[in-house]
Amino acid sequence: MADDFVKKRVNTLRQDLNHHNYRYYVLDDPEVSDAHYDELMRELRQLEEAHPEMVTSDSPTQRVGAAPLESFPQAVHATPMLSLGNAFDMDDLRAWHRRASNLLDDHGFDMVAELKIDGLAVSLIYENGSLVRGATRGDGYRGEDVTQNLRTVRAIPLSLMEGAPPVLEARGEVYMPLDAFRRLNEEREARGEPTFANPRNSGAGSIRQLDPRVTASRRLEVFIYQAGTVQGGDMPESHWASLSRLGELGFRINPNNQRCYNLQDVEDYYRSWVERREDLPYEVDGVVVKINPFGHQQALGFVGREPRWAIAYKFPAERAITKLIHIGINVGRTGSLNPYAVLEPVNIRGATVKMATLHNEDDIQRKDIREGDWVWVERAGEVIPQVIGPVEERRTGGEMPFEMPEQCPVCGTLVVKSDDEAMHRCSNSSCPAQFFELLKHFVGKGAMDIDGLGERWCLALIEAGLVSNLSDLYYLEKEQLLALDRMGEKLATRVLDNVEKSKERPLERILVALGILHVGSEVAALLTQQYSSLDELAQATVEELTEIPGIGPKIAESIRAYFLVEDNLEVIERLRQAGVVLFQEPKAAPDSDLPLSGATVCVTGTLPTISRAKAEALVRQMGGNVTSSVSRNTTYLVVGENPGSKLATAERLGTEILSEEQLVELVGLEAVDV
Ligand code: NAD
Repeated sequence: MADDFVKKRVNTLRQDLNHHNYRYYVLDDPEVSDAHYDELMRELRQLEEAHPEMVTSDSPTQRVGAAPLESFPQAVHATPMLSLGNAFDMDDLRAWHRRASNLLDDHGFDMVAELKIDGLAVSLIYENGSLVRGATRGDGYRGEDVTQNLRTVRAIPLSLMEGAPPVLEARGEVYMPLDAFRRLNEEREARGEPTFANPRNSGAGSIRQLDPRVTASRRLEVFIYQAGTVQGGDMPESHWASLSRLGELGFRINPNNQRCYNLQDVEDYYRSWVERREDLPYEVDGVVVKINPFGHQQALGFVGREPRWAIAYKFPAERAITKLIHIGINVGRTGSLNPYAVLEPVNIRGATVKMATLHNEDDIQRKDIREGDWVWVERAGEVIPQVIGPVEERRTGGEMPFEMPEQCPVCGTLVVKSDDEAMHRCSNSSCPAQFFELLKHFVGKGAMDIDGLGERWCLALIEAGLVSNLSDLYYLEKEQLLALDRMGEKLATRVLDNVEKSKERPLERILVALGILHVGSEVAALLTQQYSSLDELAQATVEELTEIPGIGPKIAESIRAYFLVEDNLEVIERLRQAGVVLFQEPKAAPDSDLPLSGATVCVTGTLPTISRAKAEALVRQMGGNVTSSVSRNTTYLVVGENPGSKLATAERLGTEILSEEQLVELVGLEAVDV
């Protein structure tokens, strides 16, 4: 493949994966199946392996999850909570086993096979036997402190049995059992509230509730699957023994875990659970295989975000064949035209599937999916099913190739498609369909977080003509709300209170909420490091914007374009007049006397004594800028063990290379506390 083409594909994959990560980890509301996500991730990994110079530290392959929500205090993980590599078939599993055996020079180690529970990873810290902190995984380094909520989960012990180490971190998966999930959705439906897509999202959503009473009502469960940081006391030498020790201390351990003495045992375990997974009272998406001796685990260590000593062997997604009756179009928030398939209803793993996503036109053309085709449909977990491709042998000749409409199916405006994007978009920013999506996004959790204004009320407000641009929300009167069908006094008061509260959201969240194309939480965070008000940002040129590490021309142009539209400026002005705070306290001017003032520093690999995050914090504290990739503007590259492709780039560009020790010396310290 030509390099340019690869670069483009890598960029598209990264953008898509970042978007799906945000939907999945931050909003608990994924748009695509895990199998589809895994496929995108796999493709990106393969491209990066073939082109190591394209790997950047902010690539989704290098990171876990997403940044924590701001509503909770942050919880730093003393030992990072990382992810797991995936195997999709026996060959992948064998390859993993072979690599580990070769590295260890031991071909006979034992393993533990466990069910991979589809829930939310949590860290529970006990001091002298009492639960002192419970946190989510977040981005692996910083999670959310959700202690109050986790205390409501009955199976999490608040105090441990005699003999626990003075500090013990237990890690496990909190999940919502299937019957609790079904009941919760029935109740929500009856109350006219939106239902959850699957138990994982409802479980994760329940833990990230600001009111612990809500969490308590959700009947969550937990399985502990390993110890994290342990100080003092003694813990066994192997994973299997430590699981039983954790069990003795009072933790809930999955009784289906099994010790395996060779790969055949693992395969048998996997096969038996592929067949029996439906019998479990909770959702599992695969089997986790871990090498048992801790000595081996330490020797193998990690590669990127994944331990070499464990792997997730995923269950196959479920597929079926059915007829594609018609391709419909849904208009999204940024005007994207999203095609979907209307199917002849088909039963896949106990659920009736009538609709499936088709992603975008390129995807339809590439797979050559036509109206009238028999198609393979996949349903993984309980997320939106997707069309995999046509069954060409069954074609009769009457099938109709698909063409994107030239006009928006909702407002009739001309549809545009830029060359570097897969999506077609309606170019009318006041298209009612777009505005509905934008409004839902604006009031949503990662944005202005206006609780009480669900999808249904957004639609009602638009249909009643009460809200036709975002700022209208801040001018609503109680009588207007009460005139809406089924809106009561209590809800109206709550909505208005929450609208009022949202006026003080941090600038970063407002930026996300406005729905500027390509500006999600990560970009917003970068922007607010540089600009302290919306007005300042509105004046920024494309050149200035692209100087910010992490902001490319495409994002910069999209931001600039947003602030050139008169209607957008008017909305911002009305938001200001309504009292929405559109600025933040300016960041202190950089102190030019500090040792790293004016320097741009990138840190890569595992440093001998301090974590990468700590090294980066040190750089910032000493006046330097931190960057995630090496370019001509990088002053120093700080290198630890297993540095990856950045070292080569730095050598090529002639960037000065420092060890941890040299960095510490450069900033004039004797040592850094670990
Ligand atoms: P992962 O889910 O593949 O594996 C790591 C996680 O497994 C751990 O953090 C832990 O929470 C969990 N786990 C469950 N049982 C376990 C056990 N017995 N031992 C150890 N860990 C156990 O990795 P991830 O980084 O959490 O998420 C990536 C996966 O999430 C992807 O493979 C994809 O399937 C899904 N995902 C989907 C979307 C989407 O849009 N559909 C987006 C992002 C991620």
